[in-house]
Amino acid sequence: MPITTTKTCTGCFACVNICPHTCISVITDEEGFYYPHINTDTCVNCNLCNLVCTKEQLKQVKYPAIILGCRVIKDSDLNSSSSGGMFGLFATAFLKSGGRIFAARFNEENKVYHDEIKDLSELAFYRRSKYSQSYLGDVFKRVKDRLKDGIRVLFVGTPCQVAGLLAFLRKSYPTLYCIDFVCHGVPSPGVWKEYLKTLGPGISNISFRDKETGWPNYSFSYIQDNVKHRQTASQNPYMRGFLHDLYLRPSCYDCKFKGFTSGADITMSDFWGVWKNHPKWNDQRGAGVLAINSNKGEQLLKMIDKKEYEEVDVTVQQAYIDYNCSAYKCAPHNPKREIFFSRYGKEPLVPLIMELSKDPILVQIKNIISKIKHKIGIKACYQALKYSFSFINKKIHGK
Ligand SMILES: Cc1cc2nc3c(=O)[nH]c(=O)nc-3n(C[C@H](O)[C@H](O)[C@H](O)COP(=O)(O)OP(=O)(O)OC[C@H]3O[C@@H](n4cnc5c(N)ncnc54)[C@H](O)[C@@H]3O)c2cc1C
Ligand code: SF4
Ligand code: SF4
Ligand code: SF4
Repeated sequence: MPITTTKTCTGCFACVNICPHTCISVITDEEGFYYPHINTDTCVNCNLCNLVCTKEQLKQVKYPAIILGCRVIKDSDLNSSSSGGMFGLFATAFLKSGGRIFAARFNEENKVYHDEIKDLSELAFYRRSKYSQSYLGDVFKRVKDRLKDGIRVLFVGTPCQVAGLLAFLRKSYPTLYCIDFVCHGVPSPGVWKEYLKTLGPGISNISFRDKETGWPNYSFSYIQDNVKHRQTASQNPYMRGFLHDLYLRPSCYDCKFKGFTSGADITMSDFWGVWKNHPKWNDQRGAGVLAINSNKGEQLLKMIDKKEYEEVDVTVQQAYIDYNCSAYKCAPHNPKREIFFSRYGKEPLVPLIMELSKDPILVQIKNIISKIKHKIGIKACYQALKYSFSFINKKIHGK
């Protein structure tokens, strides 16, 4: 039964949603990822699950024709987003036009899952990137129900989730709009759950992309007992493990959805090359890139009031190839991933991540310099370095 092949399964749940006999349940494997599990006693071998499965999908890589650097004007919207805040504008315009949105949020236990946004008052829960794979449950069925009721739907998710939804639907709906993002990969929900335990109870307002320490130097933050806790991504253990590719889903190292092939109408991403290509926005507040992949993508963009955001033309080279390789390349396989999972659950999590994500000495020096730069400013950092070098020189040469 090929749908259970773990290495390529993305966990999109198209198979779970399509099975007419509800004989596919969701299990969590020893690495903490969700997988479909077939009850062979009730399966009637209709093959529908294999028909909608995209795990072997291989499509021609695309180079989007319309690419825009974008960011919202309103400060509060920009601050509560991961990059340029355009998701918030699309969502607001779509809800105001009477549509419904399916996107990712936290539940009370801070598990990440997809749900329906019915009202603008709920939007805040869905903003920002969550670095744990989102649980889709029966969301594809619910999207189909809305579409059949004549309601316009906007689905936002990873490229494999968008591809999974389109495969599940098996026909195109003019009232369905999909947005995905350039995707580095999704970390294990099990590791996220274990990490949360190390923080203790009463955690709320989690942000993986807090911009208070600057956009490129973003932080992981949360509130506990009315106190805000914050660590930059390079200091925070969970973020270190994610950025070192220690616990991504196996399918992410061999992703079949790179190169704008998911079928999404718009692809969002960070505008990391902003300092070189549009220095005016290089002010630590964040900026994004939108690839408009279809006519529906253009329609979505037209729904937003032009006065609410700024835009600038960028090329494929500037937006993706030079600064955002995840658009076309898979995360590299880290050989320490196997070591991590062979020890995961048997020893304390934080020291394990810190040991396996230790940087080489040169990277450590670079990080120290960037920390000093952030704390005391570039000029003062230069003075401090000059002073240290002259001090070392005096010690060596005695002058
Ligand atoms: C796991 C992950 C990896 C990413 N990797 C990259 C990358 O390598 N390069 C890059 O340029 N951009 C990446 N992004 C996307 C990027 O960081 C921004 O989310 C995107 O540019 C949109 O930002 P925004 O400011 O417009 O809106 P935001 O308010 O930040 O919007 C976030 C949107 O993403 C959805 N979302 C959040 N977490 C998840 C999740 N776990 N699963 C599915 N949907 C989710 C939310 O529902 C919301 O719709 C990644 C995002 C995630 C979640
Ligand atoms: S073959 Fe048909 S009945 Fe069996 S698990 Fe797949 S969808 Fe369900
Ligand atoms: S349909 Fe999705 S969840 Fe099911 S086996 Fe295929 S990739 Fe995995
Ligand atoms: S890297 Fe690919 S397989 Fe992994 S979550 Fe992103 S789109 Fe899905």
